[in-house]
Amino acid sequence: MNKRQFLKTNLSLLGALVTAPMLGWAKNWTWAGPVPASPEDPFSLPALDYAFNALEPFIDEKTMMIHHGKHHAAYVKNLNAAIQGTPFAGKTLEEILAMVTDKEPAIRNNGGGHYNHSLFWKILTPKKGTQPSAECTQAITQEFGGMPQLKEKLLNAAKAVFGSGWAWLAVDAKGKLFVSSTPNQDNPLMTNLAALKGTPILGIDVWEHAYYLKYQNLRADYLEAVWNVLNWEEISSRYKSALPKKPGTFDLWPMLGAFHKVMSETFHPMEEGDLQPIKTRSGEMAQRAGEVASSPIPAPFNTPDIAATVKRLKKDSKALDKLVKKQGTDEQIKSSLTALHDVFHSIVGLCRDENH
Ligand code: MN
Repeated sequence: MNKRQFLKTNLSLLGALVTAPMLGWAKNWTWAGPVPASPEDPFSLPALDYAFNALEPFIDEKTMMIHHGKHHAAYVKNLNAAIQGTPFAGKTLEEILAMVTDKEPAIRNNGGGHYNHSLFWKILTPKKGTQPSAECTQAITQEFGGMPQLKEKLLNAAKAVFGSGWAWLAVDAKGKLFVSSTPNQDNPLMTNLAALKGTPILGIDVWEHAYYLKYQNLRADYLEAVWNVLNWEEISSRYKSALPKKPGTFDLWPMLGAFHKVMSETFHPMEEGDLQPIKTRSGEMAQRAGEVASSPIPAPFNTPDIAATVKRLKKDSKALDKLVKKQGTDEQIKSSLTALHDVFHSIVGLCRDENH
């Protein structure tokens, strides 16, 4: 077994191996993949997307190796141990962070440690000059005035952390960006613990273990350096995912959603050549269309076009039901249902129009 194979199967020992005398050979070693978690371990150490020395000269190789292979690995190992046999077992990491309180310090520290470092590795990159997306830029300008102002605010928050902690750019429940800091391994996802709650999209580690080997006590120099290796493409994509979901048409208009359910359960079988569903449910569909027509149209959709199309939906549904009841031919039923399906989709299309 060579060193690499040995490490692949015994990575939990890496912490003990990456000590100063070992760094001579370790310099030539590239990490082979995620820690092979035992099947009962829910969490594992994620691989870096770049080499340990890829962020030089801003973040040095030795710091990256120890930070990832020793510190982060320990959070993962301790988190797996801490949740065993507790109500936290079987939960996702995000669920754990949302549940954790000051009564579970091991889960708080190691759950936070695992989440925070997993985010940190992703929002760093050796790629030069990544840019935020147009929508992320717009949000930064709106909230902070621009990128230089965001940088100043975020780095000041990081400098002001007393002892160990993190500085964050995060998105609140309303989709607004904010800058904050948290002590130790806390983060804005810890709803029971964080003063400002939200989804972090950029986190800067200001523990001494993140910079001491290269920068010693010069935290400000480290922060200036980190700014050069931020991955704004990743941060932008996290910004987009963190925005609250806009409600869909059927959330705003449940009557139309109820009609849609019957339509989809009859139209699609018809397309496959099965007319039984529409033959047995045409009355129900006419009733749902009547309910759509007799209930008020939700304000965002209330236009003359939609009002007229809803009337047609009711009329055509009734006609289809009549046709079924008087035992029209399959061809007649098919063509009537296809036309009704088009009417329904024109309502949905109108609702999705940007103008509404
Ligand atoms: Mn760290």
